[in-house]
Amino acid sequence: MKKIIAEIIAIGDELLYGQTLDTNSHWISGELDKVGIKVVRRTTVGDIESEILTAFAEAEKRADIILITGGLGPTNDDLTKPCLAKYFNCKIVMFEDALRDVTAFFASRGRELTELNRQQAALPECCKAVRNELGTAPGMWFDRGEKVFVSMPGVPHEMKKMMTEIVIPQLLEKYQTPFIRHQIIKTVGIGESFLAEKIAAWENALPPHIKLAYLPSLGEVKLRLTAIGQSAKTMDAELKECVEKLKPLASQYIYGYNETPLEAVIGQLLRDRKLTLSIAESCTGGYLSHLITSIPGSSEYFLGTMIPYAYEIKMRQLGVKPETLEKHGAVSEPTIIEMANIVRAKFSTDIGVATSGIAGPGGATPEKPVGTVWIAYSDKHQTVTRKLQLSTDRMINIRMSSVAVLNLIRLSLPK
Ligand code: ATP
Repeated sequence: MKKIIAEIIAIGDELLYGQTLDTNSHWISGELDKVGIKVVRRTTVGDIESEILTAFAEAEKRADIILITGGLGPTNDDLTKPCLAKYFNCKIVMFEDALRDVTAFFASRGRELTELNRQQAALPECCKAVRNELGTAPGMWFDRGEKVFVSMPGVPHEMKKMMTEIVIPQLLEKYQTPFIRHQIIKTVGIGESFLAEKIAAWENALPPHIKLAYLPSLGEVKLRLTAIGQSAKTMDAELKECVEKLKPLASQYIYGYNETPLEAVIGQLLRDRKLTLSIAESCTGGYLSHLITSIPGSSEYFLGTMIPYAYEIKMRQLGVKPETLEKHGAVSEPTIIEMANIVRAKFSTDIGVATSGIAGPGGATPEKPVGTVWIAYSDKHQTVTRKLQLSTDRMINIRMSSVAVLNLIRLSLPK
């Protein structure tokens, strides 16, 4: 079966000025992926006729389907419609059905239909109008040989409704598409290159129609397997087999699959074991608690946090011994051990965890550069600590320290 290839063109100066994030292309890519249409390129162009026409011509050379968003409004800076008329070499004429829709749209809101709005129903003669139930600019569908151009409004909710209810069903009528299946394996606690080395033999033995991508983010690496084929059932079975073969090579790093975040996995582990958690977080300033409490139902296992950010508060409120702080400093193993043990006792939880570090950019000493972080896990059997040497970026350090604590909980919980 022939692969069906799409390109997306987002039009609008505001996208290039950095004022509006092009969420349309992102969303459309995801929807096309679900139905087996492969997006090979996304282009953003400003409101300049020559740029728009060039983008159309280049996309048509490569793709079967060209999806365009934006620039359909009634004002002079909206160039998509005249550009399409020029590109397909046809006149702009009034579409009576579209005019009825625009008229009804304004009437239903008790607003006067201006000439500018009336002109929204005038479209290139060679297109089919695509109804826009949520706005005034109709979409446009152009067939040229086996290729299709569809132009949709830039307003995200208008475009989404049009795509879901009209454009995708019609594309699926026109084209026979294969299935695209993804399986995401989520790992934590190992860098991308180390992981790649560990699983090289497995990667090399993957069947040719299954592709692997490494997707690193702060503290985590996702492995995405993608299969393209005719039978969803066969591909699902193949992907499952690939995952089973991977498990023994990376079991200590794999924490979950697909969309489940690490904090949800930790929540489930605590819930399964009927264990409770408290936190003393210094350098992470509440971010770790934010991750934990972003999971619905976290009140079942998470009792609370203390943020003893200042030296004084570490001593007076939490209860770290002054001599520990004086001798070793706040960012040290003895201090972090006390922090985790004390918070566990104070909150009467099964587990206590703690963070203390130099998030930066200030606060470093020669022995403790920015990015030095201590974390600890404490339960009634053990206290486990880790020293992290992270980056010079404050937000990266906060995020990575929090992920490291979640991973420490995962690895240290009683089996
Ligand atoms: P309409 O005529 O229905 O208003 P339009 O096609 O003229 O639609 P634009 O004028 O290009 O749409 O954009 C309208 C609004 O839609 C913009 O102000 C912006 O907020 C949003 N928008 C446009 N393009 C995108 C995009 N690619 N991703 C996300 N939002 C977008």
